[in-house]
Amino acid sequence: MSYSKKIEYEIVPKETFSVIRNCPGCSRKTHFQNTKKFRVNANGSRLDVWLIYQCENCKHTFNLTVYERQKAASIPQKEYERFLSNNEQLADAYGKNLQFFKKNKAEVDLQNVEYVFQKLAENITDCRHDPQTYIIIHNPWGLKLRPEKQIAEILTLSRSKVKKMLEQGELKMDAVSSQLISFYVPNHFTGQS
Ligand SMILES: [Zn+2]
Repeated sequence: MSYSKKIEYEIVPKETFSVIRNCPGCSRKTHFQNTKKFRVNANGSRLDVWLIYQCENCKHTFNLTVYERQKAASIPQKEYERFLSNNEQLADAYGKNLQFFKKNKAEVDLQNVEYVFQKLAENITDCRHDPQTYIIIHNPWGLKLRPEKQIAEILTLSRSKVKKMLEQGELKMDAVSSQLISFYVPNHFTGQS
């Protein structure tokens, strides 16, 4: 299908992810938040580094492993100092790093995350007479958001309106996966006729 305009967005989380796990203090599954505090333990020439998470109900804590029995010499001095000073940027980076959670076998809540749509690119193509816009929304963190919700937010329409447009073929889905959706929509919905 041809189109006159292509717009790409990326869904970017605004905050670090919380972890869902059984809390011994609450005796049930709760959300644990990133405290943005590291714990460093030196054991001879080896280092352990953890990022501390805390139950949002009872303040029970648990540690996610950043380094385990790592040779101290192999950790750059600058990074080591950032652990010691609880560098917030570093804690944020780990708190959004899905590999880090996976390594720790921690279940991440990808459903209740605040996010923004960041526009990556907007291109006008040669077929200017085609009244369609092609929109791609990248979701690299795999946040759990229904496609209609993403579309409604991008086009600032209600979800019921989007549903109706999909049913009537006014809006056509192209690809749908957990990390990307794309669709075609008439230009006037994206502020250009
Ligand atoms: Zn708890």
